[in-house]
Amino acid sequence: MLTNRINTLSESITIAITTLAQELKAQGKDILSFSAGEPDFGTPQVIKDAAIEAINNNFTKYTAVDGIPALKEAVATKLKRDNNLTYTHDQIIVSNGAKHSLFNLFSATIDVGDEVIIPAPYWVTYPELVKYCGGTVVEIPTDDTSSFKITPEQLKNALTPKTKILVLTTPSNPTGSIYSKGELIKIAEVLEGTDIIVASDEMYEKLIYDGEFTSCAAINQDMFERTVTINGLSKSVAMTGWRFGYMAAHNTALIKATKKLQSQSTSNINSITQMAAIAGLNGSADADIEMMRKEFASRRDEAVKLFNEIDGLSVLKPDGAFYLFVNIKEKSSDSLKFAKDLLAQKEVAVVPGVGFGSEGYFRFSFATDIESIRTGIKRIEEFVKDL
Ligand code: PMP
Ligand code: GLU
Repeated sequence: MLTNRINTLSESITIAITTLAQELKAQGKDILSFSAGEPDFGTPQVIKDAAIEAINNNFTKYTAVDGIPALKEAVATKLKRDNNLTYTHDQIIVSNGAKHSLFNLFSATIDVGDEVIIPAPYWVTYPELVKYCGGTVVEIPTDDTSSFKITPEQLKNALTPKTKILVLTTPSNPTGSIYSKGELIKIAEVLEGTDIIVASDEMYEKLIYDGEFTSCAAINQDMFERTVTINGLSKSVAMTGWRFGYMAAHNTALIKATKKLQSQSTSNINSITQMAAIAGLNGSADADIEMMRKEFASRRDEAVKLFNEIDGLSVLKPDGAFYLFVNIKEKSSDSLKFAKDLLAQKEVAVVPGVGFGSEGYFRFSFATDIESIRTGIKRIEEFVKDL
């Protein structure tokens, strides 16, 4: 009954483990979960107020498929203010989360056999969506010796006449690495003279602790024209459940194509979320963003210190996002078994590195209260002592 296409798709391992941890917790187990990729904070009040006002104003009907003009204007203003990028309304489309934006992008651009370069470790969704759309995944492996970043030489070697897209995630999920402006300029030089699209996933842009964030599209005119900028509000203002994301691209035909797809599939995103998202984008929640960023930064510092005190484990200090990608190679070469045993024996949920395309690591989210982080790392220490 099912298509080959759907049969090749794997379930999101991040969601699967988070769900399992929630189920075990509901059964009364003392589970500490560090698997979720979402802030533990509530959505800022100013955003919730905008949504309540939208409901009371009966802003509850169908809207333009690609987002109401006021929301597109808020996206355009944000991209100008924060990223120095100038996009018009017909270069922007709003979707049900950045995940949906990526699905639209890959659906509109990948033909069977097209190659998509994905640096590993990667966020779990990219290779699955690429395969689903008929593309071939070309992984570029990285590890902690290069701060999990690809070099221009690696990129050059991965290019073929079939290369269609390069996916870049900065800051990265699962490693927190950020590409500096200088590194992006070098990547841009490799791409010059090709038609390759850069899918720049900038979801964690607001969660920067060290270094500076640069949008791929802001490097130069050539990069501006080839880059599709993808972002949203899930991580920056704790809006994971509201489902808001967007894509901005120089190429208006691409935006038009994804609008067509959206018009025949999901239509507009929730009208109330659109009003809330304007408040999330226009600066009204900036103080909340800074409060969360500071809190994440201090959790990061403590968690990194605690992990690096454990014999046999090591972790780089991430520059951004809210994940640690912990090296377990001295203790285990099977991260899935490691994560399963850790959950069974110590009731601690983490995501195995193999799910992100990198064996020998696990991902630990520090978007959790500091007491749980301390207790969780203690339990992990006890677990690895016996390995
Ligand atoms: N990109 C990255 C790198 C992510 O970690 C996530 C996490 N969910 C997303 C995109 C998608 O976020 P959302 O669909 O909630 O906007
Ligand atoms: N992106 C988050 C994560 O990496 C949320 C889960 C998901 O969408 O896969 O955990």
